[in-house]
Amino acid sequence: MTTAPLPVHRLNSDRPAQAVRPPALRVVNPPSEVDLIAAEQAAAAFLVALGVDLNSESLAATPARMARAYAEMFTPRSFDVTTFGNDAAYDELIIARSIPVQSVCEHHLLPFLGVAHVGYLPGERILGLSKLARVVELFARRPQVQERLTQQVADWLQDHVAPGGVGVVVEAEHLCMTMRGVGASGATTVTSALHGQLRNDAASRAEFFALISANQQGAVHHA
Ligand code: ZN
Repeated sequence: MTTAPLPVHRLNSDRPAQAVRPPALRVVNPPSEVDLIAAEQAAAAFLVALGVDLNSESLAATPARMARAYAEMFTPRSFDVTTFGNDAAYDELIIARSIPVQSVCEHHLLPFLGVAHVGYLPGERILGLSKLARVVELFARRPQVQERLTQQVADWLQDHVAPGGVGVVVEAEHLCMTMRGVGASGATTVTSALHGQLRNDAASRAEFFALISANQQGAVHHA
């Protein structure tokens, strides 16, 4: 991709705002390193090792389907980072709520599914609203942990939009928790990452959490 891999920062760290980059930056996937043939062979060996009989019409193509499914789950779509000048000097929170999150836990390679609430206080430029969902997808479609995903989305916005503040909350159910192990069906994990004014100013932070919780059952608690 055109951006360097983002370093992982501790949650809620403060980072200095960087210069706004050109508005037409394109975020593209790296050249595909997916070897579907090798992945299919490995999936077949994996299933056989688990005692799954692949000698049926229904299961014969399962290793190939597994390979393609995981390749898709690990490949975010490319997108253009469209930004607009903040001509109206809008200085209130911009929030996209309940953006779908579909990712894969890197510890068990099982999905975790939920929503992200992403908000920022605009600076000189405003990001196209649909791009917030693309940024979530950019970091979700890879082997991931929820804490890092949350932080990477916040860091990306801080670096590319140079806002006055950023807030990201992710609520997700991890199938590795609900289908195995403790069997905690329905339990969700909440993570948050804050930058700038949303981290430093109590009133801004409270407004952000109130807005993302409005009309939802219960409040989102700041992790
Ligand atoms: Zn897991």
